[in-house]
Amino acid sequence: ASLFESRYLTRNILIGMALGAAIGTALNLTGTTVAEPGFLAGTLFPLGGDIFVRLLRVLVVPLVLLSLMCGTAALDDVRKLGRIGLKTLAFYLGTTAIAIAIAIGLSVLIQPGAGFELNYEADFAASESPPLAEVILNIFPSNPFQAMVEGNMLQVIVFAIMFGVAMCLCGEPGQRVLAIANDLNDVVMKLVMLLMLAAPFGVFALVAKTFAIEGFSAILGLAQYFFLVLLALAVHAFFTYGLILKVFTGLSVKRFFKQMRSVQLFAFSTASSNATLPLNLENAEHNLGVKPSIASFTIPLGATLNMDGTAIMQGVATVFISEALGIDIGVQGYLMVILTATLSSIGTAGVPGVGLIMLAMVFDQVGLPVAAIGVIYGVDRLLDMARTAVNVTGDAVVSTIVAQSEGEFDQSIFDSEEPVLKHA
Ligand code: ASP
Repeated sequence: ASLFESRYLTRNILIGMALGAAIGTALNLTGTTVAEPGFLAGTLFPLGGDIFVRLLRVLVVPLVLLSLMCGTAALDDVRKLGRIGLKTLAFYLGTTAIAIAIAIGLSVLIQPGAGFELNYEADFAASESPPLAEVILNIFPSNPFQAMVEGNMLQVIVFAIMFGVAMCLCGEPGQRVLAIANDLNDVVMKLVMLLMLAAPFGVFALVAKTFAIEGFSAILGLAQYFFLVLLALAVHAFFTYGLILKVFTGLSVKRFFKQMRSVQLFAFSTASSNATLPLNLENAEHNLGVKPSIASFTIPLGATLNMDGTAIMQGVATVFISEALGIDIGVQGYLMVILTATLSSIGTAGVPGVGLIMLAMVFDQVGLPVAAIGVIYGVDRLLDMARTAVNVTGDAVVSTIVAQSEGEFDQSIFDSEEPVLKHA
């Protein structure tokens, strides 16, 4: 069974990714395009990749529901729950605001859009952005099953927390239901680890398809924008996260990133925080040393609420396009971007490409033409991969900080060389 041990997971995913990138690039160089993707990039790879992502996403609702119910009940103190909730939200919103500030700061400094000829007859149809009151109302479920059927994560989260609190206050019957929920949760987690055995293949298919179809020529025309987003992502991932981790926990940043590797590679390949959620949760508990009561709360919440990488793309894109169009949105406009981008991440699911929809809301707010988003559409998939890796890292950073501050952190797991994935 050694090949299936979780300690090989990172290595296997990396091999899958590297092979995917190599084969994808080779296909692209030999003439694969969006219009003519051929059998491999057009049928086989998307099929394999999509099957894999579906198998993971099918676990997201049960996993969030069960683990959050159990996690909430395990806190057995409503005040503690409130405190943890506030702390988590503060960190999520705070890091997101810092992320956009870095993005805007670097962009204003480097001026990626200066001298850029912008021609945006490109066809990007924006979807209507809902008003804020509706966004807030939509956090609250009116029917738990509908929320689950629609995969509305925030509503599932709210329901699970309510249920967990009641379970905890209900004495013996509550304990009996909790015992069942705990067992079910273990079974679902086991399923996650079983599916991870297929991860290298899934990752291979996803990456091969993307590299075959996207190609690098699209990047050339938008190089300033593309590399600036990557730069801002790197600054945020290593500097901001490293700093707050050090300041708030004193933990080794290097060790943290080492324990995070497989999650990051996975997020990069799937470009979906939601699909990465099961692995991120398992990793937080059994690799980072975050106690389940905290991880089951912070990680699912983060997958929906916290998208620092996406916020960075929005910051750079706003400056880039406003510069290229010669529209000065002013300091007020930048503040508006920070506010809108932070708020719009609430209630948008972590799936590929959702960042562009959020960007449309931001553009609406600051008065930039939404159709101009079409210009950066061509390089978005590759950036989506990179920013998703940052998104999930942010969730884990905050989870670790909150866990340690609550004394719900196991240093020996964090320090262990060999991952101790319980369900592996
Ligand atoms: N793909 C990103 C995520 O799932 C969201 C986005 O930026 O499009 O986290």
